[in-house]
Amino acid sequence: MSTSDLTRCLDFARPWLAEPEAEAARRAVLSGWVTQGPEVAAFEREFAACVGADHACAVSSCTAALHLALRAVGVRPGDEVVTVSHSYIATANSVRYCGATPVFVDIDPATFNMDPGRIEAVLTERTRAILCVHQMGMPCQLETILGIARRHRLAVVEDAACAVGSEIRLNGRWTPIGKPHGDVACFSFHPRKLVTTGDGGILTTSNRDWDRQFRLWRHNGMDVPDLDRHGAREIIFETYPTLGYNYRMSDIAAAVGRAQLKRLPEMVHRRRLLAARYHSLLADLPGIHLPQEPTWARSNFQSYCVRLPQGCDQKQVMQYMLDRNVPTRRGVMCAHREAPYANLHPRRPLTESEQAQDHTILLPMHHKLTEDDQAYVAEALKNACCHAVPCAV
Ligand SMILES: *Cc1c(COP(=O)(O)O)cnc(C)c1O
Repeated sequence: MSTSDLTRCLDFARPWLAEPEAEAARRAVLSGWVTQGPEVAAFEREFAACVGADHACAVSSCTAALHLALRAVGVRPGDEVVTVSHSYIATANSVRYCGATPVFVDIDPATFNMDPGRIEAVLTERTRAILCVHQMGMPCQLETILGIARRHRLAVVEDAACAVGSEIRLNGRWTPIGKPHGDVACFSFHPRKLVTTGDGGILTTSNRDWDRQFRLWRHNGMDVPDLDRHGAREIIFETYPTLGYNYRMSDIAAAVGRAQLKRLPEMVHRRRLLAARYHSLLADLPGIHLPQEPTWARSNFQSYCVRLPQGCDQKQVMQYMLDRNVPTRRGVMCAHREAPYANLHPRRPLTESEQAQDHTILLPMHHKLTEDDQAYVAEALKNACCHAVPCAV
């Protein structure tokens, strides 16, 4: 290791923000209209066009989006929603916000996504919906999940938090995640995802009534958007026909989002290139499992998740790499192991979910990574694994 390696400063993640985003925020600020207004409306139109959706409704986060999506498809107190524990905790939390119970099914260890073969065994007369996740940007097995949902008359909500720019092949055609293929898809604009607005989320659907409902709910149930009242030549008194929330996105955030959307093709292209490079650098590491794309899925590689060779202690490997200035993160969490779900006893073992949490790590992934950085990360990982279990190589 050279001296420069010891001073090497690698970020784990980094949003792709630059002058166009700063300029967009400036435009919104100087316009004098900073809450939900013309920028949000334009962002919604552009996002809908980008994923091929009929309707898109921007909100304050993906967590808020998931809450509204589940309410719209009819999830009520006492209902059950089939989902995965192996996800960011917001997935399970959104089910709880509706007074319903998440019923966790295990994942496919190859893709870290819901294993559709395990869904039917947990269905009851109280099951209302399936909440599937496109984990780390990898499309889940939607075709099978949609078939099961149709047979059992269940709604499908897609947690597409990480999946903007990912694609899936259905009926022989590639389509963007978010069309949506289920009833509603929910995206996140947190800085750890590809497109960011600081914080934010969006719901896409083909159902006009649900889209109207989302617009009421996000604005405390108010039936006249601020912008309409502001521009009206007559006095309008608004009413509040339903109990809502404050889940609005600001116009500053939406302006940044519009600049980000223009970069999306470049972002996805860059990440797919970085993923391919990691793949070739790490393919010869004995026992490692690298991300695999099913033939019908194109990931945006929001994260690059590797399963460590057997016997490698996750924390030890991460510490060894950090000592060499390579930041990593543990693989995706399991909600059922956290306090809010301590009393919810999964109906089936979640062995693959737990194994994934305990034996995978995420490698640095962002547009600034150079070839040299990636070679350094790969070398550090190989040495860390040899350090953990003496290697034959
Ligand atoms: C990030 C994430 C969320 C939450 O998104 P927010 O916009 O932060 O609310 C939900 N589900 C998954 C799978 C995520 O990765």
